[in-house]
Amino acid sequence: GPNQYKIFSSGMNLQSYRTFVLQNDLRRAIERKEFSLVFQPRVNMKTGMVTGVEALLRWNHPNLGCISPGEFIPLAEGSGQIIGMGEWVLRYACAQLRAWREAGLPPVRIAVNFSAQQFMQKDLIGNIRRILSDTQIPPELIEIEITESVILKNEKNIINTLMQINEMGIWLSVDDFGTGYSSLNYLRRYPVNFIKIDKSFVQDLSYENSNSTALVSAIITMAHNLQMSVVAEGVESMEQFNILQRENCDEIQGYLLSPPVPAKEIEVLVAGGHPY
Ligand code: C2E
Ligand code: CA
Ligand code: CA
Repeated sequence: GPNQYKIFSSGMNLQSYRTFVLQNDLRRAIERKEFSLVFQPRVNMKTGMVTGVEALLRWNHPNLGCISPGEFIPLAEGSGQIIGMGEWVLRYACAQLRAWREAGLPPVRIAVNFSAQQFMQKDLIGNIRRILSDTQIPPELIEIEITESVILKNEKNIINTLMQINEMGIWLSVDDFGTGYSSLNYLRRYPVNFIKIDKSFVQDLSYENSNSTALVSAIITMAHNLQMSVVAEGVESMEQFNILQRENCDEIQGYLLSPPVPAKEIEVLVAGGHPY
């Protein structure tokens, strides 16, 4: 193109070229305002009320269209850009909460996903405090989702940080539960409020498959005994819903209720009072 060139060698295949382009473009994505958040409601199984929403990041690339987080989050983690992106996500989520409050909506909690690298940054707690105070959002309206791998990374620092997050009043959940670290010992020591059962377990649930039901049932019982609530992710069918209800699961999230949607559609759900 005019006044620019790019080097491409025939040894590079198309996939690595795409990765190269995405890695490069990711650096400017925030300032070019190419990111947005969509929100997926989480519903209490007993009351049918929306208890909160999960914020999920979307990247609208100018040439390649919508890129899935499954593709660009690992790139951002590899390059360290996830730190800036994570901050953007939290700030944007708080700004959204503020907009909902100003529109007169009842308070709804937003859960944001945190990568392991975000716990390596020097002043994570200071940054979180600053964002909450800039946007005037009470910590109880924020939930942080971490995976089991976060807990594995750097035990002493992490537990300290998680304790501080907990003392601030922010909620904490363990995402993709059952797919990562196999030791359950950590659960006792970390201030976890919610366990999110990974969708791979939920998708195996059926009346015929008693093994997968036994597994989910055991996770729910264990969590309840540890005073934690359970969220089932990726609920797509009424059969899964009914089994989860029978097993006393607390909350569900999944396409059965709603896919992740733009903020405007969440407003309609929450303002309606009793959506499900
Ligand atoms: P996750 O945190 O486990 O998020 C749930 C994923 O499952 C989302 O995919 C959501 O769209 C999808 N999902 C929801 N309901 C259903 C269902 O009923 N069936 C099926 N098959 N899928 C369902 P998405 O939005 O593509 O995000 C993928 C992953 O990218 C997330 O998995 C999370 O690990 C990561 N991610 C997304 N946003 C962020 C972010 O802001 N920060 C970080 N660090 N990671 C993020
Ligand atoms: Ca999540
Ligand atoms: Ca998950």
